[in-house]
Amino acid sequence: MEDMEIVTVGTPTANCYLVKGDAPYLVDTNTPRAGKRLMEAISRSRMRPEELRYILVTHYHYDHTGNLAELKRLSGARVAAGERDAEVIAGRRPPAGPGNISPAGRLLRRLPASLLEKYQHFESCEVDLPLHEGMVLDELGLEILELPGHTEGGVAYFHREKRLAFIGDMVSNILNRPGPPFLSFSYDRRAIVESMRRLAQLDLEYAYPGHGKVIGPGASEKIGHLAERLSYRWKL
Ligand SMILES: [Zn+2]
Repeated sequence: MEDMEIVTVGTPTANCYLVKGDAPYLVDTNTPRAGKRLMEAISRSRMRPEELRYILVTHYHYDHTGNLAELKRLSGARVAAGERDAEVIAGRRPPAGPGNISPAGRLLRRLPASLLEKYQHFESCEVDLPLHEGMVLDELGLEILELPGHTEGGVAYFHREKRLAFIGDMVSNILNRPGPPFLSFSYDRRAIVESMRRLAQLDLEYAYPGHGKVIGPGASEKIGHLAERLSYRWKL
């Protein structure tokens, strides 16, 4: 099995993961404001952005796509994202905005659209590899799982042999406490729980979230417990 070194190149707002190996790749690209810090973190890990072969996007939110266009220009890397989110990333469909499944989301929905647009803004970027369930990125050894509930086209990147996955916002782990994605920007509680149950079935040792610390060892078990707690709390 090929060696794989995963470096967290995050900011307090969000994580990105730089994966070194024969075909180096980056998972997510943080907020537009974090560009400089992200570039510095990449060079601190002794890599140049030009060496990136792929940029894998877990979902279209601006704190994951903030530097996507710039990094693609710098690196010529191929950009991958779930096919439904790819339309938003490419600017062909507007972001869904706040959802109506939480009080905070319902409040945010009453804000003027222009304010929300400004807040969520990122530079559009063409997606080279629109992904769907069951696809495999052979060169990277990653399988694609569709994980709806937070955004419609959210995906996880699953490395079966290494028993790890990059899971985007589907489970956060802020202060080392597994929790749901930000509900104000999610759209379906039942889909969230179902997506978590899928992750729970994968026998993951480690899960790499968009927010908070790496989950694990025993990531799938932890996520399974969270899914059942939420299912009870949300009366699903
Ligand atoms: Zn998100």
